[in-house]
Amino acid sequence: MRCAALGAVLVFSNSLLAAEPSSESIRAVRVWPAQDYTRVTVESGEPLKHNLLRVRNPERLVLDLEEVDLQSVQQGFSDKVSANDPYIANLRVGLFKPGVVRVVLDLKSEVKPQIFTLAPIGEYGHRLVLDIYPIEPLDPILALLQKRELKTEPGIFGTPDEQKRGASPSIKQPQPAAPADRLVTIAVDAGHGGEDPGARGRSGTREKHVTLTIARKLKSLIDAEPNMRAMLTRDGDYFIDLGARVEKAQLVKADLFVSVHADAFIKPHVRGSSVFALSERGASSTAALWLARGENRADLIGGINTARKRDRYLEMTLNDLSLTAQVNDSLKLARAVLGELGG
Ligand SMILES: [Zn+2]
Repeated sequence: MRCAALGAVLVFSNSLLAAEPSSESIRAVRVWPAQDYTRVTVESGEPLKHNLLRVRNPERLVLDLEEVDLQSVQQGFSDKVSANDPYIANLRVGLFKPGVVRVVLDLKSEVKPQIFTLAPIGEYGHRLVLDIYPIEPLDPILALLQKRELKTEPGIFGTPDEQKRGASPSIKQPQPAAPADRLVTIAVDAGHGGEDPGARGRSGTREKHVTLTIARKLKSLIDAEPNMRAMLTRDGDYFIDLGARVEKAQLVKADLFVSVHADAFIKPHVRGSSVFALSERGASSTAALWLARGENRADLIGGINTARKRDRYLEMTLNDLSLTAQVNDSLKLARAVLGELGG
């Protein structure tokens, strides 16, 4: 009798599964780990019904997806967490109850999650985005200072401190009136990143990787100069929206903001690199406008969370930044960068 009852139950549950509304398949899952935040993107053909829960002791995030195909979620999430992810330790996928697939993210520390959806754009379908931020946002100034302190090896002009004091008698001081301790800070912005690959080269090269390589090189050149230091707006493969790029530059009180792109500017056949200097008006305003337009689209592709509040910097725009930048110096620097790149 028991066997018969069990059989009946099994048949019943099978018919239940078969009667379920057609479930959505996950197209892709992408995880972008970075110190700033880790982004998890779940892409699908139709919008996903979802619910996010925070669970304590130990810290976990529980993401429930309704009416999705379990296997596609399992496949999508398999092997997506890297050991060096700053926030996610591990993840598991399972059927929570009929019609609900549960994704559990085991966390390395307490986090601030944000979840939002993005409408299809470019090559992407519907995206469900889970951003995992640290409780205390990283301070770019601190990072800048820490990196500066690492440079303790005395170079040909002495230690950084000696450089700052202008201790080397062999160095000419062209502007003796200028304060010797004035440190010029340059925000070097590698275009695109993460979900936003930028332009694609013929051989499959992605602009986001090219810009990061150039930006790192540029930073090392700048850091090697006495009285100059550089801050990278991103130092990894993850998306950062234009507002956040500008915000970082503002936080370190950057004198210049150099955005590095490696795509076709207006004329698609033009080869090489472009370096844009921002200005309020004048010769470079076309470039700045183009950049802003391009970045706005990049924000849509990269996935900007429009609900994210930037309390202190809400009103900040590209123009605000350009007001603090010396246009002529920016252009000079841009030319110098292009010279270094041989572009
Ligand atoms: Zn670009």
